[in-house]
Amino acid sequence: MNERFAERMTDGKVRADTRIVTGLATIYCDAHHGDRLRAPLASDAAALGVYGRKRMVLCDECAEHIRYAERRRAFCPKDPKPFCAHCDTHCYKSDEAEWQRQMMRFAGPRSMLHGYAIPGVKHALEARKWKREMARRAADAAASDPNGTGAAL
Ligand code: SF4
Ligand SMILES: [Zn+2]
Repeated sequence: MNERFAERMTDGKVRADTRIVTGLATIYCDAHHGDRLRAPLASDAAALGVYGRKRMVLCDECAEHIRYAERRRAFCPKDPKPFCAHCDTHCYKSDEAEWQRQMMRFAGPRSMLHGYAIPGVKHALEARKWKREMARRAADAAASDPNGTGAAL
């Protein structure tokens, strides 16, 4: 295992975020891949005890996505870290970002039913804040370019 990964996983926020994303993936996998062979996640974070006694049961495909997400979270340069969906860096490969989008869209709203109440509420609040910020930026752009010529430049 990469030494830096192990060092990053000693940070409480990194561990907590990793637990949340993997927990959400189990909700998604449970609902979509119940017909597949599924097993407790084997990953570097799991080996470091990040998930404690919680069994993160996933199919092979979701487990591979989560091993990728564990590394992205560990090496995320943002502090404070926004939700990846709202990040201007987008360090994920496009297929991984798409999987994460689909997974979060499904599991996010259901997370409160699965013991992830606080992350679910935080996610909803941040999504609302982000929509407002996007609207503000669009209004600023329109105000500084009243004839709409910017788009053609
Ligand atoms: S997408 Fe942004 S917030 Fe998410 S891990 Fe990458 S750099 Fe960090
Ligand atoms: Zn799955």
